[in-house]
Amino acid sequence: MEKLVIIGSGMAGLTAAIYAARANLHPLVVSGKAEGGQLMLTTVVENYPGFPEGITGPELAEKCRQQAKRFGARFKDGNVEAFTAKGSSYELVVEGEKIEAKCAIIATGASARMLGIESEKKYFNLGVHTCATCDAAFYTGKDVIVVGGGDSACEESLFMTKLVSSVTIIHRRSGFRASKVMQERVFANSKIKTVWNSAVEEVLGDGKKVTGVKIKDTNSGKTSELKTDAVFLAIGHVPNTAAFKGALSMEENGYIKADSRLRTNLPGVFAAGDCCDKIYRQAITAAGMGCMAALEAERYLEGVQR
Ligand code: NAP
Repeated sequence: MEKLVIIGSGMAGLTAAIYAARANLHPLVVSGKAEGGQLMLTTVVENYPGFPEGITGPELAEKCRQQAKRFGARFKDGNVEAFTAKGSSYELVVEGEKIEAKCAIIATGASARMLGIESEKKYFNLGVHTCATCDAAFYTGKDVIVVGGGDSACEESLFMTKLVSSVTIIHRRSGFRASKVMQERVFANSKIKTVWNSAVEEVLGDGKKVTGVKIKDTNSGKTSELKTDAVFLAIGHVPNTAAFKGALSMEENGYIKADSRLRTNLPGVFAAGDCCDKIYRQAITAAGMGCMAALEAERYLEGVQR
């Protein structure tokens, strides 16, 4: 019987592991197949406090892992396939192996929704990005495209106008889903252009970097090409919570419901990071939630009521 299992090895899971290990809980971290979480998809992280020169996402993840290991956290590769309550404990299935635990922190993160075309994979991080906060600075003075029509697409476009020369938002319909205030700011910004009723069919490039996109007009079916230096996808995120469906209360879109102390509907099960946060989604906020969840888990295991 494990005392505490932490599921996920992004910033939330690793921070929870550091805190729980220092509290002598000997946590077992089920680290997933893509260890390190979304950090592994970014290049340089320039907004994580304490690294004035920036740090690469993989390096930050590795440092956190070493820090957790130093205090006794154990790591197990693989994804959780099933999660069920068993009396006052919980049973997880990891790659076919059963693990029982008294307490669990779910920190499985979220994945950016992708368009589902081959070329976006080919140019991922070579001009195709999913996080403007992380990667916009690489396109200072250049022209970028944002795909999407929600608050994220608008917010990321507005943020990027401080750095880039122009932003073109490509949206599949003729109106934004984003809130009115966000739309108004976008329309008032002379650096942002909008291309309506268009679907990105292909990301074009020279093999090393992005040079443009091929788009299709959803009304006429006509295709055309637009030049650009980068394509930022802002078409939503999908929380990685499928293994917990049925066991944990979730919102309609799959985000785990957690209260302000990160407690889920099950006693001793906490959630942290992007699997329960659709608003902030930053490495530092995930780390903060991981810390909170570990402190809550420690109190739960000690039977301390607050
Ligand atoms: P979202 O609201 O789900 O919007 C996703 C956008 O992407 C929609 O416009 C959607 O088009 C489009 N889209 C989805 N799949 C697509 C595909 N396969 N191809 C092309 N376009 C596609 O996601 P979000 O903008 O990330 O926002 C998520 C949540 O966070 C929302 O509740 C939002 O309000 C909130 N948020 C708030 C703020 C803020 O208030 N500052 C900032 C960011 C996010 P359709 O419109 O046609 O469906």
